Amino acid sequence: MITTDRHRILEIFKNLVKIDALSCNEKPVADFVREFLKGKSVTVTEDNSGKETGSNTGNIIIKRGTGGKFMLTAHMDTARTTENITVVVDEGTGKIHTDGRTILGADNRQGMATILYLIELAENNPEIEDFTAVFFTCEETTLGGSKNLEVPAWVEAGIVFDSSHLPGKFVYRAPGSKTFTLEILGRASHSGIAPEKGINAIGIAAASIARLKQGRLDDDTTMNIGIIEGGTATNVVPEKVKIVGEVRSFKPQRLEEELERVLNTFEEEVKTAGAAITKAIYEDFTPYELSPDHLAYQLAYNAIRATNMEPQPVISFGGSDANSLNGLGIPSVNLGIGAQNPHANDEFVMWEDMVTTANIGLNIVRKK
Ligand SMILES: [Zn+2]
Repeated sequence: MITTDRHRILEIFKNLVKIDALSCNEKPVADFVREFLKGKSVTVTEDNSGKETGSNTGNIIIKRGTGGKFMLTAHMDTARTTENITVVVDEGTGKIHTDGRTILGADNRQGMATILYLIELAENNPEIEDFTAVFFTCEETTLGGSKNLEVPAWVEAGIVFDSSHLPGKFVYRAPGSKTFTLEILGRASHSGIAPEKGINAIGIAAASIARLKQGRLDDDTTMNIGIIEGGTATNVVPEKVKIVGEVRSFKPQRLEEELERVLNTFEEEVKTAGAAITKAIYEDFTPYELSPDHLAYQLAYNAIRATNMEPQPVISFGGSDANSLNGLGIPSVNLGIGAQNPHANDEFVMWEDMVTTANIGLNIVRKK
């Protein structure tokens, strides 16, 4: 029976985090993957998502044998640079972190290391079934890679190795999110000489926001106005103001209702003041909810149990590549890999959690 080699997985991880690749600049990571897989019995292709995302590479798709029924995924970009990284492994505790000058990049190179390790392990190994692996671009900025994935035709389910939860947990339900960018156009005028001639865009924004409830609107839904910019000088009636916010909900209908409420409120105030408004709506990610009979749910649940842990299906309030995949019609879950404090200089992962994640992965791809 095969088991995880704790030193080998750490070695692959260390090699991966050395590569500096921010969102839309993942090509060096893609090149590393091609080099790593050279001579192995897999087919490596790159999709055309680069045209949509603006990245210098597409998503990397790796097909082992027939490609099987499911794909294991991770993303190639990091939220912040890992240039000149120093990885430290505490001998006593097994805590893997940096010297504090950079992030560790375990989000999401640990997910990548797990998947590459499984592909390596699968070579000439009759215990492991065929599967597909996909490495995405642009996760940290727009989820652009996964949103624009050219979905392999044979794939029916996805396991995303990118939740900061501890191994044993997996996200089966997550909200959708839409961002709204509004620009109110009033009229500039001298604030002392001719204030009557001006239309105060900041005043309109303030009146609108004062009418809107923000924060948690119900169990499923939140709304937040996070950016406001406007005005030019204290003696000028402000002509323009820009407002950027988001609505999140587990229920698509509630999301639309709240978004409409926001837009209507601004429109009413703009109309009353005789100003104008432009609106841009962007879908950040679509919501999803998997039931226990979905293949992705079962794969995660059973593999965690086979690793002698109690599976814990959890809800997330954030978005991930799993949202995109579900949006593309591929039911997917986001697996906890134990990469903690993501995006911070004190990001870390316990070596034990790295090994447990690989063991869960192994139980996903092991023939049943
Ligand atoms: Zn991530």
